[in-house]
Amino acid sequence: MIELNFPAANPAPSAACCFLFQGDELLLKEDSEQNIIPLMQDIKKLPSPLVHFQYIGTLNQTACYTGSIEAPRLPAGYTPKKLRPLYSELSEDLFGMALRAYHLLTWLKNNQFCGCCGTKMATLSEELAQKCPSCGHIAYPKISPAIIVAITKEDKILLARSNRFPPGRYSVIAGFVEAGENLEQGVIREIKEEVGIQAKNIRYFSSQPWPYPDSLMIGFTAEWAGGEITIDNKEIVAADWFTANTLPDIPGQGSLGRKLIDWYLKK
Ligand SMILES: [Zn+2]
Repeated sequence: MIELNFPAANPAPSAACCFLFQGDELLLKEDSEQNIIPLMQDIKKLPSPLVHFQYIGTLNQTACYTGSIEAPRLPAGYTPKKLRPLYSELSEDLFGMALRAYHLLTWLKNNQFCGCCGTKMATLSEELAQKCPSCGHIAYPKISPAIIVAITKEDKILLARSNRFPPGRYSVIAGFVEAGENLEQGVIREIKEEVGIQAKNIRYFSSQPWPYPDSLMIGFTAEWAGGEITIDNKEIVAADWFTANTLPDIPGQGSLGRKLIDWYLKK
């Protein structure tokens, strides 16, 4: 279980977990054929200095840190790995903390200076926030809500192709919530904008942190209420109704989009 538990213990325990990133890849330590998260006692031996090294709370009472390692070459025994595919390699708890670590590291990198007066920010010890020593402005980690929705019509599901997807890939509709909207309004607007139809019976499904760079995906199900599919051919380049037997290439396990499609398949 992730808990905030601020301030951090001082000195940091040698068994603290350190989620270090090289670019967007998480540093793992090879330990008898298994990749594990390095501990504080391991990273003290690393030759390269760490950047944005920061306590981020505890996982099952173990202190956790995030940080960036910028050495071009890593010592033997360490492997950087893309975060998303680690969904199937790490436990749910560790993967969740790795997402939190990456989200907060990105926020720390992008908020080094005060947005009001430009002074170098200082990280607070009593909570995870940055405070400007000059004007007192406080910045908290940014979380951007985005909706993702599976729309069904009789025995079919609507799937669309974004111009950002790999060739042939389709998924459910998704988009950021706009200022001034509630989540349901965001769902209705995104559906209208991306595929031109009306939807009804919008129901909450589940949610998932998606720190690429700072989203929280909020999943919904909905039913077609009227209109024909119309796409803009810019962001969305194809969309159609599919049955369980005619599904195109869909996202792999681990994403909320895939969970929504799996929900449709089990209906
Ligand atoms: Zn300031």
